[in-house]
Amino acid sequence: MSDTLQRFMFDSSPVRGELVEISDAWQQVQARRTYPAAVTTVLGEMMAAAALLSANLKFNGSLIMQVHGDGPVLLLVVECDSALRLRATAKLAADAEIADNASLRELVNLHGHGRFAITLDPADKLPGQQAYQGIVSLDGDSVAGVIENYMLRSEQLDTKLWLAADTQVARGLLLQKLPDEGGTPSPQADNERWDHVVTLASTLRSEEMLSVDIMTLLNRLYWEETVRLFEPRPLSFHCGCSREKVGNMLKMLGREEIDDALADLGGLDIDCDFCGQKYAFDAVDCAQLFVADAISAAVQTPGRQQH
Ligand SMILES: [Zn+2]
Repeated sequence: MSDTLQRFMFDSSPVRGELVEISDAWQQVQARRTYPAAVTTVLGEMMAAAALLSANLKFNGSLIMQVHGDGPVLLLVVECDSALRLRATAKLAADAEIADNASLRELVNLHGHGRFAITLDPADKLPGQQAYQGIVSLDGDSVAGVIENYMLRSEQLDTKLWLAADTQVARGLLLQKLPDEGGTPSPQADNERWDHVVTLASTLRSEEMLSVDIMTLLNRLYWEETVRLFEPRPLSFHCGCSREKVGNMLKMLGREEIDDALADLGGLDIDCDFCGQKYAFDAVDCAQLFVADAISAAVQTPGRQQH
């Protein structure tokens, strides 16, 4: 069983849970490059976390988790859509020297300017509708800690995460306290039940999470609880890049900048950071990007003048 997301509920606690295990998709992220060990851990943990948060999305679209670093790691990005298709990439500073045991702070928050962002991007946006983005400072010594802080601030939900990753696999556990909707006979008992399941999960260590599958983890932690399992969902690697999207990105840079780059390089070779797909734009391709715009502007102009 690999690349699976398993949701569950406790019969006697107002808590929902999810476990995730990502192996094949995580291998595909790492296929084209070797990251330093500390970066592998953080990016893998973000992958597991993005899948755990995406499993609860209420819309068709993507959750994008980003860390903007001010240290040797400049950017970490993980994207997961509502079909649990993932992609991820990391950008390191050119002269980055990263110790195997570098902490999250040393990687991305060296000067206290690191930022963590989650974007919720619906696939079918209404005209004028923007993606929602929440940004917080990088409070926390671990990916799990940063996300817990984010969830408490932005969603006002008690959420706990346990994450672990190496080059082989990324695994994660999420527990979330269900909101008290007024029908609870004893909020205090609910809090005690929440504390109880969290305390049990807090015994988890990375080594254990990396060495056994998620169902074994679930049984070890909660063998005394009645746990209800939902249908497991598969995850996969997917990159949604396309020639059209790369063309749009070039257009946003503007004609002048593109012409300068063409003069220097002769043609533009763009590699997708996520999947390695190569896109080549020569001078004719670039000219066409802007010609299409010029034509549509010319077609629209007479229409406007009639009014
Ligand atoms: Zn791609």
